[in-house]
Amino acid sequence: MADDPKKIVVLGCTGSIGDTCFKVLENLGNGYEIVGLAGGSKVEKLIARARCWQPQKICVIDTEARKWVQSAIPQVEVVCGAEGLCELATMPEADLVLNGLVGAVGLAPTLAALAQGKTVAMANKEPLVMAGGLILQQAERGGGAVLPLDSEPNAIWQCLKGEGRKSLKRIILTASGGPFWGRSREQMRDITPEQAIDHPTWKMGPKISVDSATLMNKGFEVIEAAWLFGLAVEQVDVVVHRQSVVHALVEFVDGSLLAHMGKTDMMLPIQYALTHPERREVHLDNLDLNQVGQLSFAAPDRANFPCLDLCYEAGRSGGTFPAVLNAANEEAVRAFLARKIGFLAIADLNRDVLAHCGTQEAVSLESILDEDRCARRLAREWVAGRAG
Ligand code: MG
Repeated sequence: MADDPKKIVVLGCTGSIGDTCFKVLENLGNGYEIVGLAGGSKVEKLIARARCWQPQKICVIDTEARKWVQSAIPQVEVVCGAEGLCELATMPEADLVLNGLVGAVGLAPTLAALAQGKTVAMANKEPLVMAGGLILQQAERGGGAVLPLDSEPNAIWQCLKGEGRKSLKRIILTASGGPFWGRSREQMRDITPEQAIDHPTWKMGPKISVDSATLMNKGFEVIEAAWLFGLAVEQVDVVVHRQSVVHALVEFVDGSLLAHMGKTDMMLPIQYALTHPERREVHLDNLDLNQVGQLSFAAPDRANFPCLDLCYEAGRSGGTFPAVLNAANEEAVRAFLARKIGFLAIADLNRDVLAHCGTQEAVSLESILDEDRCARRLAREWVAGRAG
């Protein structure tokens, strides 16, 4: 091959996005080289992955894990923590940073990579929700680019290829509805973390699975898509589509709609982000429309899944409100998974914290992080009040 291999850093390499990313790289074969790997609590998996892909640098969660990994792989440089993530994201060798982290922790490395002019493929939507404006500004200043990895924004990106921005009227995101679609509030009162994590169509990590069950994930995608495609949140609609065959639609000013359809396998968006504008073969079964049979569409149940409208509210308010909602939600989901609050309390907590924090002032990284801290403190007090 004449071209140099594309050099990649994978942040969150042992999670669900990381797993799929390596399946894609195996599928693509030559042409890609891993220069940096960052992983969290699954240290043994990180070590195995590093032995297989031989990065120059590894980032682990803390100094304890660092000792463990360093003794297992003495020839590789091991760094740790939030600083380590930024160090990996800015490695001079790296062309592409694949961000598969979960939560706000992904914001600083994203900004750092973009400041160095790197391309960042984002599966980690929380930073875009918190600070979409800053991220895009940084990309423009540093000469980097943000590529959407998540299935819905990736589908929109594909639908908009070759289309002028002026032609776009609105975006329609599809939502599977999650595991509790059609239930009343009463029927959702005693939902356990195990039930919430068991998503009907996508296999994902625990945080995003809970967010899918509350429709918060879809609301975050509304804010994310508004930033990525330069629209107001009102121009991004949500429709419930149980089959998850259509991943997103775009509507043009002439009333035409283009839909992106495909299997519910994250290999497809991740591979497209790596190979675009080219397409390469993926060895998955074809999407068999005869077997799918019917595609259904329905309006989301806004009353029983109030997190969706909280996202519209935060997105419309702008400023630091989306960051507040994100921080509150991260704390709420953590408390729910730890069985400290019930499923319905996730939305209640989010609503209460959103009412007490946030500003419409011009947004800086400092103001976002201040409001993030304020929201988390309030959220923890809320949880403690509930438990006590
Ligand atoms: Mg998605």
